[in-house]
Amino acid sequence: MQLTDIKNDWISQFNHPLVIAGPCSAESETQMLETAARMKEAGAAVPVFRAGIWKPRTKPNGFEGVGSMGLGWLRKVKQEFGYKTATEVANMHHVQAALEADVDVLWIGARTTVNPFAVQEIANALQGTDRIVLVKNPVNPDLALWIGALERLAGADIHNLGAIHRGFSTYRKTNYRNIPNWQIALDFKNQLPNIPLIIDPSHICGNRTGLSSVAQEALNLGYQGVMIETHCNPDEAWSDARQQITPETLASLLSGLVVRNEEC
Ligand code: PEP
Ligand code: MN
Repeated sequence: MQLTDIKNDWISQFNHPLVIAGPCSAESETQMLETAARMKEAGAAVPVFRAGIWKPRTKPNGFEGVGSMGLGWLRKVKQEFGYKTATEVANMHHVQAALEADVDVLWIGARTTVNPFAVQEIANALQGTDRIVLVKNPVNPDLALWIGALERLAGADIHNLGAIHRGFSTYRKTNYRNIPNWQIALDFKNQLPNIPLIIDPSHICGNRTGLSSVAQEALNLGYQGVMIETHCNPDEAWSDARQQITPETLASLLSGLVVRNEEC
């Protein structure tokens, strides 16, 4: 299958914009269930609950995720609260475990998108799946690598595809953790208007203050979704503590977004 032939009507099963929220990392069953419950109580319109259970960290000796134990917690979040669930996969073993555990949405992280062999391995393990697969932009500003990863998935007849714009690393210090480089995402959108584009303000900002303006900017540009890291106790999070927000803050951030009906 060619990437450009893909219809991608999967996104229309969700209200606009699609919201994916949940902790950077799954830490414990209690943390997962409390975050999920409070998102519901706060009235945040979140159909998809995210949590990383395998965490590829830039530096060694950090927390690298709870591993497959977290799959049971994702399943509980789905059963108890009715969310669809999402997690990151970085190799074929992750894919097999996530498929067996009925995870609805799989995403390829920025550190994996840069590796064609890893992406191909994931594509082969997912061959022909109906599961939704999202590809984060590579850490470096390389549009061809981002599109190439999606082409590998389309080549394995994976047809429910989307892309996540999480910004690009830069040696220069800026106000962003990863600079948005909007033009790269807009070029992506021009080349592949059929692939839903989701903004990840959390990894772009690296803090809590810029999230809503980055999310709003993306919606103004016609993005179809947002992914926002949300944690029941952000200050104590085991990864990405500075950028995570509480479920209650998420609810108010979402209600402050101005959503246009028409696509631009
Ligand atoms: C994440 O979503 O928690 C993550 C590790 O993101 P990225 O791959 O964009 O760095
Ligand atoms: Mn994170």
